[in-house]
Amino acid sequence: MNNLSFEELNLSGQILEAVHKLGYRNPSKVQQQVIPKAMENKDIIVKSQTGSGKTASFAIPLCESIDIEERDPQALVLTPTRELCVQVKDEIANIGRLKRVRAAAVFGKQPFSDQVRELKQRTHIVVGTPGRTLDHIERGSIVLDKIKYLVIDEADEMLNMGFIDQVEDVIKKLPKNRVTMLFSATISEEIDKLCGKHMKDPMKIEVNPERITTERIKHICYKVGYEYKFNLLKDILILENIDSSIIFCSTKENVDEVSSKLNAQGFPCDKLHGGMMQKDRLDVMNAFKRGKFRILVATDVAARGIDVQDVSHIINYDIPMEKESYVHRTGRTGRAGKQGKAITFVNNYDNRFLLQIEEYLGFNLEREEIPSKDLVISLKKDFLDKLNTKPVLKKDKSSELNKQVYKIYINAGKKKKIRPGDIVGAILSVEGLTSDDIGIIDIQDGFSYIDILNGKGSKVLDGLNTDITIKGKSVKAQRAKK
Ligand code: AMP
Repeated sequence: MNNLSFEELNLSGQILEAVHKLGYRNPSKVQQQVIPKAMENKDIIVKSQTGSGKTASFAIPLCESIDIEERDPQALVLTPTRELCVQVKDEIANIGRLKRVRAAAVFGKQPFSDQVRELKQRTHIVVGTPGRTLDHIERGSIVLDKIKYLVIDEADEMLNMGFIDQVEDVIKKLPKNRVTMLFSATISEEIDKLCGKHMKDPMKIEVNPERITTERIKHICYKVGYEYKFNLLKDILILENIDSSIIFCSTKENVDEVSSKLNAQGFPCDKLHGGMMQKDRLDVMNAFKRGKFRILVATDVAARGIDVQDVSHIINYDIPMEKESYVHRTGRTGRAGKQGKAITFVNNYDNRFLLQIEEYLGFNLEREEIPSKDLVISLKKDFLDKLNTKPVLKKDKSSELNKQVYKIYINAGKKKKIRPGDIVGAILSVEGLTSDDIGIIDIQDGFSYIDILNGKGSKVLDGLNTDITIKGKSVKAQRAKK
């Protein structure tokens, strides 16, 4: 089964090109197994972990099977957290971009009306957290008649977070004649029951559960009294000369405290927890993904499914109380063939959690001695110098794909009663343009975005700014910044 290529998976040209432009050379194990079955429209239960490429394993077949002309959503993807919701939507949008697949993300703590406006445009795939998705369904802003695919992502986390009733409420409203795919890192009895109730003769796919190993991640721990933890944290950051690190705390109060103390003492960092405004959460996550700052202090909100490249160190400032959580947290490092280090602080009260984690992992965390003050002092300048230099920004993985797409902004939108057909008509009047050159059209109230493919963007821009009108009116067009 090893080493199938994307070409051998019978993907269409537009999807294949997008996948290659995203830098995916060969399908991952989970993709090799899931994509063919999903394309045969089989119900599947997939036991796999984050970081295995599982998002693309459902995003690729979904994008393949979307009928682009259909206005109402054809697929619904449920995810447990808002960050994951946005990440999954972005992955789908990237993979489907050249085919013009439109995906929308719906999640709590963001204005309902913005999402309704988004959903009113042609939307092929909706990605949502369960509560907000249910709200939209009940208010009629997500039409379900055409749904052919349901994906439940991170099902075990849905259970942990108490979302399973809402997930079931959503499922009950969906057309019965659909394909259901469920992804989970662990398949508990409850998940089995859920599958038994809502899936048709599901096939089970298990991608050799990559045990956390000591090959890619060095696991160490420090025994430290509660009141010395913060000082040890500073010393460890210096000693390890960290490049990029997530520091996990058990509560948002601890995150607030640790991050403000670090900032006050010259260790610039940012924070992420569920009590923050949604926009701030997304901004912080994006900035960390791009490598704009090196230290993120977070609760488990950041542990699950979130894909950040090159996190060199995970520090469990507070030991996780659930053994699975240790695996999710430390899975943020040592990704994509890189080496990582996981450091856990343990005080006397934490011993039983440590034992449970070690039993679950099947190996012991290495006990390290607290570093001497002299050693830390001798290394401090180097680290502070590093903190004060600007990190090199990480490349956005969709940048190659974006080069294929020329995004145009025009100063006319819904208020001027512009419809996609009007824009298409105008663009087709540009010499040499065909409908194959037009990508996604996004019409907002006062403005619109148009994706132009095949290197013909500047031609369209010139046309729109000279003689071409939309609905008989001339418009101002410019290359979009984003
Ligand atoms: P996931 O398991 O979906 O969180 O994916 C983990 C990371 O792997 C993401 O950054 C994906 O963009 C990336 N990825 C997915 N499929 C592939 C592939 N076939 N080759 C290389 N990277 C991939």
